[in-house]
Amino acid sequence: MSFKMTYHERNVENIEKLGDKTKQVAKKWYEWCVKNKIDILIYETIRTKEQQMENIKKGVSQTMRSYHLVGQALDFVPVINGKVDWNGYSRPEIKKAIAYAKSLGFTWGGDWKTLVDKPHLQYDKIPYGADTFNGKSVSSSDELPLSKGEKGNKVKELQTKLNQLGYKLVVDGIFGNATEKAVKDFQKANGLVVDGIVGEKTWGKLLTVIEQKSKSTPTNSYVTYKVKRGDTLWALAKQYQTTVNEIKKLNNLKSDTIYVGQTLKLPNKYAPVYYTVKKGDTVWEIAKKYGVSIEQIKKLNNLKNYTIYPNQKLRIK
Ligand SMILES: [Zn+2]
Repeated sequence: MSFKMTYHERNVENIEKLGDKTKQVAKKWYEWCVKNKIDILIYETIRTKEQQMENIKKGVSQTMRSYHLVGQALDFVPVINGKVDWNGYSRPEIKKAIAYAKSLGFTWGGDWKTLVDKPHLQYDKIPYGADTFNGKSVSSSDELPLSKGEKGNKVKELQTKLNQLGYKLVVDGIFGNATEKAVKDFQKANGLVVDGIVGEKTWGKLLTVIEQKSKSTPTNSYVTYKVKRGDTLWALAKQYQTTVNEIKKLNNLKSDTIYVGQTLKLPNKYAPVYYTVKKGDTVWEIAKKYGVSIEQIKKLNNLKNYTIYPNQKLRIK
């Protein structure tokens, strides 16, 4: 009876994301682990710049020069009796697996003197960023223009940016039909040449639109409020002429529970309210969401009809 890892499918899927050379060596290591019935979960391999920035903010990574960014590192955790064991790195079989990885050319983060990183194996036998993806170098797929058929981190970055603007894309680093369609829609909505190719102009426009979007909440648009006994999000939403979801979004609340003494940001009911149109929105839906009439939205924005476009900033109140 052959041994199968608990997370075999996920492991294989993650290994596939690595750079060509690193993948080859990682596969060899993985097969050795299978042969020796050492159960592991490879939970992360490639990372986008955004993810790495997040990790630095959270304090789990220290540098933007991560081997994960260039497909030359993987993070794994021992699996004991079908469960991940974050304390399992000193088990004899895991030590053996790590020793074998090192013999293949991997550097283990558990050997580091500062910021010990036990899950981390990086393939630095070849220089940083020297691995390729399907024969293409990282640096070349990291460059503009990007078009259909391209793969890599820059494509992931593009997909992440388009998602920020409401185009719903799977961030897989593969520039396929869906990504091309989103790029064309974005170009159309922003008065650019609609060719589905991301050159300097389209990239630059993406950056400005995202920046504008992040600035689109005026500072006088909310007031701070200290929660009193008996307050509920529902009642506050009604009182401040907003919705429970808007309050949750404004305060990053995961649930509807609020506490006495908690400080909440609430929309300033006297300040104008704006909304940035997302792909697929209609004036009717927006009006319903904010409890206003479609005529009001039309009037406040001098609209000729009810046609709206993604990224268009509408005044609601
Ligand atoms: Zn790592």
